Amino acid sequence: MRILINGAGVAGLSAGIDLARVGHEVEIVERANHLRTNGSPIDVRGEAIDTARSMGILDAVQEHRITMTEETKFIDRSGAPVAPLVRQEIDESSADIEIPREDLMNILHRALPEQVSLRFEESVRTLADSGDRVAVAFASGREAAYDIVVGADGVHSTVRRLVFGPEKEFTKHLGMYVALGDASDQATPGDRTTEVLNLPGRMAGLARYRDKALALFQFRSEPIDYDHRDLAAQKRILAEAFAGVDDWKVPTLLKTAQDDPELYFDAIAQIHMSTWHRGRVVLIGDAAHCATPMAGRGASLAMLGAWMLTEELGHRGDDLEAAFSAYERRLRPHAEAAQEFALSGADLVVPASWEAIEARNTRLRAAQSL
Ligand SMILES: Cc1cc2nc3c(=O)[nH]c(=O)nc-3n(C[C@H](O)[C@H](O)[C@H](O)COP(=O)(O)OP(=O)(O)OC[C@H]3O[C@@H](n4cnc5c(N)ncnc54)[C@H](O)[C@@H]3O)c2cc1C
Repeated sequence: MRILINGAGVAGLSAGIDLARVGHEVEIVERANHLRTNGSPIDVRGEAIDTARSMGILDAVQEHRITMTEETKFIDRSGAPVAPLVRQEIDESSADIEIPREDLMNILHRALPEQVSLRFEESVRTLADSGDRVAVAFASGREAAYDIVVGADGVHSTVRRLVFGPEKEFTKHLGMYVALGDASDQATPGDRTTEVLNLPGRMAGLARYRDKALALFQFRSEPIDYDHRDLAAQKRILAEAFAGVDDWKVPTLLKTAQDDPELYFDAIAQIHMSTWHRGRVVLIGDAAHCATPMAGRGASLAMLGAWMLTEELGHRGDDLEAAFSAYERRLRPHAEAAQEFALSGADLVVPASWEAIEARNTRLRAAQSL
């Protein structure tokens, strides 16, 4: 079949690899002018480890493994450590593989079969599903028809909006925002610690791995009205959230994040949908079931979903409705469990009050001594 994938994140690249390997003619379009590889380290866990093996990338993923969780500590306003991050708190198993997002993205990119066409600065503008083909008009003005269109364009998916309706119908805001900026000027050779400072309803951190460092921020807030693609607005909101905070390295980290042209800033919001497919269009990854970074499972679900979709198309490709329904049935329990898990993350990462910060620290110290 001729398949279009909108979005070249973990979900889009994984689907590109899987679908092309079984013989489909695959085209991927990505709105950015380059592969968006930035972000904090992410996890390949659970069944996604088997998926990575089946995709033939497990060895490469293992080679880039890092161990950030073990080297994460919560600190006080002077920078002194007050509590460790305990593995059980984030439901991690020792089999899970933590890997820089850029490494996973580059591994997936390299694994894309040669025949897959990947176009940057391109995006679906309109879709018309006639029943036997989907006619697509692209932002560039190009037009083409496909047997299947896969929406792999993340939490703010355009394919979802065009086929299923406005984003707000599917969004569950968790009352929090996240920002990540490059802070490589803060990297120290040999130092792999991650430090996290909490103030009520806010966290600022510095994550160091390899020769890199990232400035991390999260803060609690009601939904803020802004254009999610407006970088200047994102930087302004971040600055306002930490205005007046001069503890530890916060002012330096804020400045460094704001100087990053690739600053990643977004609401921590989940996507809940009653179905992920309609006609010849199907959603995968965050576009379908974003669980938020607090679940620590976005990349794993994206890889698993791409794999299950490919398998189900293999079993029942002549009946798309049956194939898409079977993909959903298999993946939905994993997605729902991840979304449920994320809900408990707020009190661990961004406690709302000084009392809650102290209670979290006491709990972590006790868990460590056990
Ligand atoms: C830059 C970036 C940084 C991230 N950092 C983290 C992190 O630090 N921690 C974490 O847990 N998760 C992070 N995520 C989210 C994480 O990658 C996903 O939760 C998970 O990997 C599932 O991936 P996905 O491919 O479904 O979505 P995404 O990773 O969001 O990928 C979607 C892709 O689609 C592209 N796209 C969006 N709209 C369109 C459009 N209209 N047309 C064409 N292309 C489009 C985007 O540019 C992006 O490349 C980040 C995502 C991005 C894009």
